[in-house]
Amino acid sequence: MRYLSTRGGMAPQAFTDILLEGLAPDGGLAIPETIPQVTGAQLTAWRSLSYADLAYEILRLFVTDIPADDLRALTRAAYRAEVFGNEAIVPLKPIDGGVSLLGLSEGPTLAFKDMAMQLLGHLFEYTLTKRGTSINILGATSGDTGSAAEYAMRGKQGVSVFMLSPQGRMSAFQRAQMYSLQDANIHNLTVPGVFDDCQDIVKELASDLDFKAKYRIGAVNSINWARIAAQVVYYFHGWRIATRSENEQVSFTVPSGNFGNILAGHIARQMGLPIKRLVLATNENNVLEEFFRTGIYRPRGAAETHLTSSPSMDISKASNFERFVFDLVGRDAARVKALWESLAKDGQFDLSAQHDEFAGKFGFGWGTSNHAERIATIRAVHAATGVVIDPHTADGVKVARDFVEEGVPMLVLETALPVKFGETIEEALGIVAPRPAALEGIEQLPQRVSPVEPTAAAVKAFLIAHQGSPA
Ligand SMILES: *Cc1c(COP(=O)(O)O)cnc(C)c1O
Repeated sequence: MRYLSTRGGMAPQAFTDILLEGLAPDGGLAIPETIPQVTGAQLTAWRSLSYADLAYEILRLFVTDIPADDLRALTRAAYRAEVFGNEAIVPLKPIDGGVSLLGLSEGPTLAFKDMAMQLLGHLFEYTLTKRGTSINILGATSGDTGSAAEYAMRGKQGVSVFMLSPQGRMSAFQRAQMYSLQDANIHNLTVPGVFDDCQDIVKELASDLDFKAKYRIGAVNSINWARIAAQVVYYFHGWRIATRSENEQVSFTVPSGNFGNILAGHIARQMGLPIKRLVLATNENNVLEEFFRTGIYRPRGAAETHLTSSPSMDISKASNFERFVFDLVGRDAARVKALWESLAKDGQFDLSAQHDEFAGKFGFGWGTSNHAERIATIRAVHAATGVVIDPHTADGVKVARDFVEEGVPMLVLETALPVKFGETIEEALGIVAPRPAALEGIEQLPQRVSPVEPTAAAVKAFLIAHQGSPA
């Protein structure tokens, strides 16, 4: 399997080559040359596998430059009961009204990003060790992605992480999660200011090409294809635990921001998994819902992006969306390139001529929620079932209700556990969100952080002084 760019300007690459890269050299995103197809017989055979071995079967279709036994060892190392707290790795949790939650938040940071990031940690270590080199991951976080990356990379050979976070702007729980890590290869840098200040420093350093090359600077952002491939697995898993025979269909509803999670569902459907509908759910930041409703894609700036009670979906420029558009225009890279050129010029593009295909050929549904609706949904689910859901998952449940069909299980992707968003839970239910036993009292653990001046020069000097050595 080789990888191309959505904009057509990259020579074919192997999986482990794109693994450590960000954007393709032409500004596009890496995409597999062909979408592998699965048969009904394979789907049936995969029912009895462990989650780790299911992951191996699916990933080997995308990863042909890691020997089979090594790849299997990597998926088995990533998807272990000790890491995810249960043998199922991803449990199914029925709620009410024909809806079940697909439990993607059982990993160390209690959000679905662990599903891909845990595998990425092992893939990075493996590839860097083989190549005898190392990488310094530089990023900025306001909570979720940074902690998932740190928990995935802690103790990994050849990988060091330098994560900038805004001083005093995260919840006590989030701070404890990240700053209590004592691993020598994990560095939490706190910056006076807000998240955008952290992000600006990272962008400035990432555009310094000499620095980037000399210190092997990498990122683990959501455009990484390996993350998408790892996420494809849980759609197959969700289907197999909600059905009995190979022809039965399921639908999924996906609380969305950067379009990474639901893109993996789209890939699974293109591979032949019997998915009836893929329902995109957004919050008040509804750029994607607007596209599916109207055919017009109009990303917004920071000034038009609302701060909501489902903050991980407060995104107005979905970094993975280009991969879906590539399929929508018949995998025509020249067309994608032209669309993104008109986007740069006009601030939008129009695919309304193809609107019938969004629901028809590609099976999409769409909807939004607002704060009051998420609160009402958290209350209704709690009253009916006793289950507490987080505000992102509540957005999914609210939107899913309109797409429930007789005989088609509806699975809402549980993208975080409620303890991460305790304030909203208290507002909705007047109770403290339940917390997994392993995280009792983490706020009392010793913390290790390095305050730095809010300048690129200060961060650069810190990184040079603390960089890792080759694996
Ligand atoms: C990242 C995240 C999302 C959005 O997922 P995308 O892949 O960016 O669409 C939704 N909910 C939670 C809790 C998240 O952390």
